[in-house]
Amino acid sequence: MASEPDRNESALDVALGFALTQRDARGRLVRLGPVLDEILSAHDYPVPIARLLAEALVLTALLGATLKDAGGQLTLQAQTEAGVVDLLVADYKGGELRGYVRFDLDRLAEQPAAPSLFSLFGKGYLAITFDQAASNERYQGIVPLEGASLAEAVENYFVQSEQIPSLVRLAVGEGGRIAGGLLLQHLPEGEEGRERLHARENRPEWEHVLALGRTVAPAELADPALPLETLLWRLFHEEEEVRLLSNIPLGKGCRCNAEHVRGVIARFAPEERAEMADEDGFISVDCEFCSRIFPIRLDDLAG
Ligand SMILES: [Zn+2]
Repeated sequence: MASEPDRNESALDVALGFALTQRDARGRLVRLGPVLDEILSAHDYPVPIARLLAEALVLTALLGATLKDAGGQLTLQAQTEAGVVDLLVADYKGGELRGYVRFDLDRLAEQPAAPSLFSLFGKGYLAITFDQAASNERYQGIVPLEGASLAEAVENYFVQSEQIPSLVRLAVGEGGRIAGGLLLQHLPEGEEGRERLHARENRPEWEHVLALGRTVAPAELADPALPLETLLWRLFHEEEEVRLLSNIPLGKGCRCNAEHVRGVIARFAPEERAEMADEDGFISVDCEFCSRIFPIRLDDLAG
């Protein structure tokens, strides 16, 4: 990079894609602000759960932003055996994020104020699903939730299962409503993680990228006033070439609406619908992503 960028700067609700072309590395930087606030505001989560979801949403955006196909979807789903957290879901589609967590409030109260990944999930797994709309391809990878953090678990997954050397950093700011992350991968430009031929490993180049990436501070990732372009420049300004690949604005998105819900319910047989309805003749369908309930009147579905 010749000079510090000063135009089109973006600090919040954006995913920046870049390549360090001389080093066979690619990366993403993400920061969430109002989008995170909107998603968390739909719920009333205790601090550790809100932080966990914030981290998961940044991770979802980091991985979602690597999808080549604009109509593709990326889903993170964590499931556990007898964990405090029962289920965590977050997804990304076309720059839109959503997510929720199901957990046991009583058991959370028994945990320390900043519970470890293990104390939240016990023996848990994270499924990462890539759906490519254009090719109708679906790929799922499973990550054991091991390590100190969500970032560490995913880093291990890329290294062990995908043989893609990776660095993942996630950070949530003080108030919990700003979060950011960095993903670096040792992948020559143009290669897909999924379809690549065995990339020639260039260890010294990658070690260099890792060393630079590790200098990123959590406070920088979660600084609402620091444009991602500036952060990128801080990290890699001594590199010969840092190519910006994408700048994706992020939003909160959910596919739930009354019409969609009615359509789903209408597919059930009339007697099944009658069983689902309450005594006033309403079927209540809720969207856990938005904490919204859609009451469907049985009579409106007649036919
Ligand atoms: Zn919804």
